[in-house]
Amino acid sequence: MPKAAVVLLLFGLTVLLVALLAVQPPPPVEFAVVVLDAGHGGRDPGAVGAGVQEKDVNLAIALRVQKQAEGVPGLRVVLTRTEDVYPTLLERLELAEALGARAYVSIHANYFRDPKVCGVETWLDTGASPESLRLARALQESVVRATGAADRGVHRQTLYLRHTKLPTALVEVGYLSCPAERAKLQDPVYQDKVAAGILAGILAFLRRP
Ligand SMILES: [Zn+2]
Repeated sequence: MPKAAVVLLLFGLTVLLVALLAVQPPPPVEFAVVVLDAGHGGRDPGAVGAGVQEKDVNLAIALRVQKQAEGVPGLRVVLTRTEDVYPTLLERLELAEALGARAYVSIHANYFRDPKVCGVETWLDTGASPESLRLARALQESVVRATGAADRGVHRQTLYLRHTKLPTALVEVGYLSCPAERAKLQDPVYQDKVAAGILAGILAFLRRP
């Protein structure tokens, strides 16, 4: 075979191999239930920025994560609320425990007196397990990547999440006190980006041993 033909053949095989690897789906998730919590609800609006209520933003994003997760084999996303109601914090955790959830993720939006403060943060309870830390880091990284929002990091404080041993994290998806972010958080296209980030974070957490 002439040298040029060999080179061409090798090139062709390489292209084929790369194409095959590219279409290879990511490893499936071993069946897992994940409980997603839309923070606040009902009589508790959460933060309010220029009339935008946190409870509504949280719910819109949670519903979008659940919708996007429908296409993921092995993953079942259960919401603590699907409408404007207020389950108690312990009821939310009890749901996750009763379902044997692999993770519990609470969605919130932030507020601060300085309107220049914008970005995404993820919170853990002060006594959180290494698994919760792994979940929080995966969520923070994925949401920042999906949205391009400022990365304000993973932090700890005393949270109601301490009442369960399940891996838990609380994502603050943006600041309702930051005008640009408040506008984005009401935009369905941006809400879908946040949701995609949360889903990617959950999947990264579930896929790693
Ligand atoms: Zn909140």
